[in-house]
Amino acid sequence: MIFQQLFDDETSTFTYLLADPETRRAVLIDPVLENTDAYGDLLARLDLTLVYTLETHVHADHITAGAALRERFGSQTVVHERGGARSVDVEVADGDVLRVDALEIEVLYTPGHTAGDVSYRVGDRVFTGDTLFIGGCGRTDFQQGSAERLYDSVHGKLFTLPDTTLMYPGHDYNGRTVSTIGWERAHNARLGRNRSRESFAEIMGNLNLAHPKRIARAVPANLSCGVVPSIDEALARSSTEASGFRDLGPWGAAIHKTDLRVVDVREVPEFDGPLGHIDGAELVPLGTVSKAAAGWGRDERLLVVCRSGGRSSRAAAQLTAMGFGKVYNLSGGMMDWNKAALPVAR
Ligand code: FE
Repeated sequence: MIFQQLFDDETSTFTYLLADPETRRAVLIDPVLENTDAYGDLLARLDLTLVYTLETHVHADHITAGAALRERFGSQTVVHERGGARSVDVEVADGDVLRVDALEIEVLYTPGHTAGDVSYRVGDRVFTGDTLFIGGCGRTDFQQGSAERLYDSVHGKLFTLPDTTLMYPGHDYNGRTVSTIGWERAHNARLGRNRSRESFAEIMGNLNLAHPKRIARAVPANLSCGVVPSIDEALARSSTEASGFRDLGPWGAAIHKTDLRVVDVREVPEFDGPLGHIDGAELVPLGTVSKAAAGWGRDERLLVVCRSGGRSSRAAAQLTAMGFGKVYNLSGGMMDWNKAALPVAR
């Protein structure tokens, strides 16, 4: 078998190239959009034909190259049926075997990081995506993740493979590249050494990780195999329809902040008060909004902010009436922003 392990520095993601050495037909596991050209070069250099791109799950940290590679090489995208993705060419389920000439790729349904995670077993290797990392595992706090299900996937499926099975993870943040099932069962800090299901769930419940920077764009894109949504589409998905404008929660606002003009409609003392303000926000007290906004481009994306969301929705309504078409109201205001422990400036 032709085998190469590739690494994306930006997101510490591993991508795997596997191919039949006779027929030169190849698959890529978890390809990253930004590296599409590099994959093209590699395939050409090795004289390989790409037939499938396999996703271990719908990623939150990077956009898959699945759709881009399909367009360029006619390869088919493979995602688990519970991944929830659209325009998938091949939906797989637990126990399915995908054959590419001499390559036999067995699908193991291993949910927990998300509801639609799979691992792929090929001979004495298993590609575990974010279900199992070297010494750790993927987070379980979004995308219908569940610590209990992850525990069951690892103990019920992955740890039943032979000890000598080579284990290739979806990410590594410490420069390691491969482990074995035997080593993980004995030493994995979160899941090995007779760790109980309860104590694992407790660890996972207390990680308090920040959301990945790209989640708001990566997840919608990956749900269509890597067709990248525009910023307006991404914003429309993260927000909810209010009256004429849209409501955006603190996380959505934080993720899209750089694409928004942040307008804080509180009074001067509040702006620098205990709740602070969003870095880069302009202070435009509610009474002065119409005057200040008169000269702004009607196409600008505005995020309107106040203490708890009341004044900002009034300002948002005013701005909408003035002809602004992309107005977002920070729901819950700086109160919820602070509750989410997002950074504030003072
Ligand atoms: Fe992931």
